[in-house]
Amino acid sequence: MYDLIIIGGGPAGITAGIYVARKKLNTLLISRDFIGQVGEAFLIENYPGFEEILGSELMEKFKKHLEKFKIDINEGEEVSKISKTKDGNFEVKTSKGDRFLSKAVIIASGRDPRPLEVPGEKEFLGRGVSYCVVCDGPLFEGKEVVVVGGGNSGLEAALELSKFCPKIHILEVSPQLTSDEITQERVKKIEKIEVLTNAEIKEIKGKNFVNSIVYQDLKTKREKTLKVEGVFVQIGSIPATGFIKGLVDFNKKDEIKIDPKTCETKTPGLFAAGDVTDILVKQIIVATAEGAKAALSAYKYLQKSNNYSK
Ligand SMILES: Cc1cc2nc3c(=O)[nH]c(=O)nc-3n(C[C@H](O)[C@H](O)[C@H](O)COP(=O)(O)OP(=O)(O)OC[C@H]3O[C@@H](n4cnc5c(N)ncnc54)[C@H](O)[C@@H]3O)c2cc1C
Repeated sequence: MYDLIIIGGGPAGITAGIYVARKKLNTLLISRDFIGQVGEAFLIENYPGFEEILGSELMEKFKKHLEKFKIDINEGEEVSKISKTKDGNFEVKTSKGDRFLSKAVIIASGRDPRPLEVPGEKEFLGRGVSYCVVCDGPLFEGKEVVVVGGGNSGLEAALELSKFCPKIHILEVSPQLTSDEITQERVKKIEKIEVLTNAEIKEIKGKNFVNSIVYQDLKTKREKTLKVEGVFVQIGSIPATGFIKGLVDFNKKDEIKIDPKTCETKTPGLFAAGDVTDILVKQIIVATAEGAKAALSAYKYLQKSNNYSK
């Protein structure tokens, strides 16, 4: 029986882990990975102390900091369900079939990429379809690719891909790109990046691997084909909450509702922190702060119930 289980190894979960380790709570942190959304980012320029740092590098530093402390870590494991036991504790099940018990839980599972939900997307995932340019970009060296989404992440993805790919198409469904001006200016300077607005992807096609996509030109209503070997989906994200039902309330965006002072959900002993919650600003510095708040609230909860292993 653990005092606390933390779900998620992004900025919120890692910070919560550091805080509770210093309080000597008997803690388990379970995470699918230690990459999170920060690993998908390119250059981070707004985290104090680091004028410029790659997202992947910042996550390595966060993880190393956590590992300095005594805390159990299950990496590469995905939580599939949280429930309450009859005696008021929590049972956390994972997709590998493991089962863990704890007196309190912090959910810090962040957000997952929003899928396109078009034919071929699931079929070609890992065979030409990707949601992470940082992870998969180099695999597409010398190949023509499309980035779906004309927001900041779409344009940043195209800029990164221009290091490897001879031609990059950006497909944006709206009449204009939605990213910051400064990023649009950077994109305009690179000839091999083509921007297609009013363009809605309809299907991803291929044999063993992707070989083309079909999109509709929304002005002419005509369907067109682009011969590409890679499709990078960059159309936003959704909260990673599939494993939690009943014990928390959600807002309209499927984010977990928390008390902003304490990170408590509607279930005593169950806390949530970072991008998975209904906090307004989704940034690294906010997620780390929320992780700290949730950790200290969980500590207080366990102390109050005089119910922890110290
Ligand atoms: C492309 C991009 C660029 C960005 N650039 C910036 C920037 O420049 N500056 C900035 O401040 N912010 C930036 N952000 C936002 C920032 O990355 C997030 O605000 C921050 O990562 C949120 O941290 P988090 O810990 O709440 O969630 P996440 O970073 O999403 O981490 C969640 C963790 O939980 C794990 N997880 C999810 N589900 C489960 C499960 N069921 N079981 C176990 N583990 C699970 C995930 O694998 C992951 O490790 C960017 C985001 C993106 C996508």
